[in-house]
Amino acid sequence: MGIQTGLARCISAVSTAALKHVFHRPAANFPGKIALYVDPHIIADMTKKLGKGSICVVGTNGKTTITNLIADALESAGQRVVCNRTGANLDSGVATSLLHATQSDWGVFECDELWLTKILPFTQSKYVLLLNLFRDQLDRVGEIDRTQNSIVNALKQSPKSILIYNGDDPLCEAIARKAPNPHVAFGIDEDLHLVNHTVSDAPMCQMCDGILQYRYRQYGQLGDYHCPKCDFARPALAFAAHNCHIGSDQIDFDVVHADSNKDQSTTAHIHADVAGAYMLYNLLAVYAASHLMGAPDSAIAEAIACFHPDNGRLQTIRIGNHNVLLNLAKNPTGFNQNLTLINQVKGRKAAAFFVNDKQADGHDISWIWDVNFDELADQDVVAFAGGIRKNDVQLRLKYGNVSAELIEDAHQAMQKILNDPSLDGCPVFMIANYTALPQVRQQLMEMAKTAQDVSASSDAQPLDADAAKTSFYAKDKPTFTMEHPLRIYHLMPKLLNLYGDNGNVKVLQRRCEWRGIPVDVHDVKFGEPANLGNADIVFLGGGPDRQQKLANEMLLSMRVQILDYVESDGVLLAICGGYQILGPSWYADGEKVKGLSILDMHTDPAPEGASRIIDNIVIDSPLSTRPVVGYENHGGRTYLGKDLKPFGTVHNHIGHGNNDDSGADGALYKHVVATYLHGPLLGKNPQVADWIIQKAIEHRLGRKVDLPKLNDDVENEANAFMCKRLGA
Ligand code: GLN
Repeated sequence: MGIQTGLARCISAVSTAALKHVFHRPAANFPGKIALYVDPHIIADMTKKLGKGSICVVGTNGKTTITNLIADALESAGQRVVCNRTGANLDSGVATSLLHATQSDWGVFECDELWLTKILPFTQSKYVLLLNLFRDQLDRVGEIDRTQNSIVNALKQSPKSILIYNGDDPLCEAIARKAPNPHVAFGIDEDLHLVNHTVSDAPMCQMCDGILQYRYRQYGQLGDYHCPKCDFARPALAFAAHNCHIGSDQIDFDVVHADSNKDQSTTAHIHADVAGAYMLYNLLAVYAASHLMGAPDSAIAEAIACFHPDNGRLQTIRIGNHNVLLNLAKNPTGFNQNLTLINQVKGRKAAAFFVNDKQADGHDISWIWDVNFDELADQDVVAFAGGIRKNDVQLRLKYGNVSAELIEDAHQAMQKILNDPSLDGCPVFMIANYTALPQVRQQLMEMAKTAQDVSASSDAQPLDADAAKTSFYAKDKPTFTMEHPLRIYHLMPKLLNLYGDNGNVKVLQRRCEWRGIPVDVHDVKFGEPANLGNADIVFLGGGPDRQQKLANEMLLSMRVQILDYVESDGVLLAICGGYQILGPSWYADGEKVKGLSILDMHTDPAPEGASRIIDNIVIDSPLSTRPVVGYENHGGRTYLGKDLKPFGTVHNHIGHGNNDDSGADGALYKHVVATYLHGPLLGKNPQVADWIIQKAIEHRLGRKVDLPKLNDDVENEANAFMCKRLGA
């Protein structure tokens, strides 16, 4: 051991003792951080403690659970294991776990996707387990291709590491193809027939501009896919799940392992007392990795059987006479999986959702609009909205036709549940994102110790979610009649949907329904003919460059009809990428792309050295008496021709809008509203939504109309929260 390494270890040992014994805090990161500061190579040096090597576990969802289970399986097999079990997954967390370890057999390390490049080159792990990639914290990590490139880059620096990856995920298959490492794929080799949620993070082929086709899709982008234009397809599965049964509290399946070395296959049966299709993927990943690392099937089965997480991931806590299931969810795919768990339980139940927006969560929470909360609408569920962004959660639930009560914390939610006789003994679900989870868990654990196993007193008021829903509806009927439903044409929703953009369509739809105005949403898929002559409202969302470019191609083929539609006062809402396309040109990855030339404006790339504009934004717009709040994330800078009016002016320097000079955002032309505001735009800005609906109806009927009034308290409170926070 060199002097530097010795010094690093010494300092970190002192800091560990101080943290634990003086400040009574867990020492999961800090000692490693100091040690790395003193000796940046300390991880490489300390891997000498690992007799057999290590595995790095990366992926968006499931890392902590899987890392712990692999460590458990190896320990059950009699191996000595070093593991960062609490999810401290940066280099400092890995370094800390190694510092605290004695001589061992295996290192099992959970790694943050973007930090693998700072860990793997030092550990030179025998295996890298890649679970899945979903859009997560885009304001922190940028688009998903950045995460992919970073993982490929890490793998290149440890070319002997064997990549064990989810072959059902096209984003992981692309990494396996681009990295030089040997690889084995796992996947589910049959259709699970799950409810197909709309969100998919990878509609396009990873190699060309084809749109992926699926023999079946399980959820998100996971499934048996192939590209119709090139050879990109799900790989052969070395570990394939068959005979899958997912019950409300158990999972059973067989893993068929095709061992190419031995030219034979073996089958193992997996049983677990947990629920959720995502757990099937997790268990399959655990099996594949543990098996390759030499754990016998009996040890893996034992680890799975003993799996009782107490880290807030799928943890059950008994409070009074309620079973409270606590789980982490931090992106649409994770949330949707939790909703499936909630829906599987029949009868009356309570669910609380907590969403924070701290640095570690990502400041942008527009992804909650990609969560299919609407599924709860016909369930007998009493819902609560919590976390720093509780107003946004309540708003999102409202547009899923779910009435949710605001709560300060888990304790308050639980008290309401305990006091409500109609909820006596019912199952409770508490779903929290990253930084919200520890507090929720702590409060629940405290209540578990104190709450008595007694029923609520019968004189307490039951929470009536159905009655609350009636407040969404207008008291008055419309004073006009429509022969056909109002038709919203949503152009290429799969390609163009960033930061909750699709939520705009939901807002328009619900605000019509709540007023008794018949409405019909028509999704126009890529390559499908569309006749805008039938449309009353056309919607175009934003997209990552590659998807925006493909959508642009189809829009160019529709140019004449889009131009006619706009010039004859058709209503069009276009967000960010969709807005850029309306001008004569914009840039994708530095390359100039010809746009529709419908608006007199153009979009330049970010100037040399300038970064992407990623910020909250507030503007003053003639379409709303309240400030319009949103979220922007764009590289392009847009400049309006001199006669084109902006959508609004940036309020109090909060945000950027079109570019850094003009202090304006978006464009208003005839009945076109074009803007950089994601979020989605219309959720917290209902007056803009109503302007769009009103213009569409007036255009159809050829006369002025008044829209019946709606109660917009929830919308306005969510708007006011952001205005206050941003100082507007
Ligand atoms: N690709 C475009 C840009 O970065 C638009 C992105 C978006 O729609 N958010 O400028």
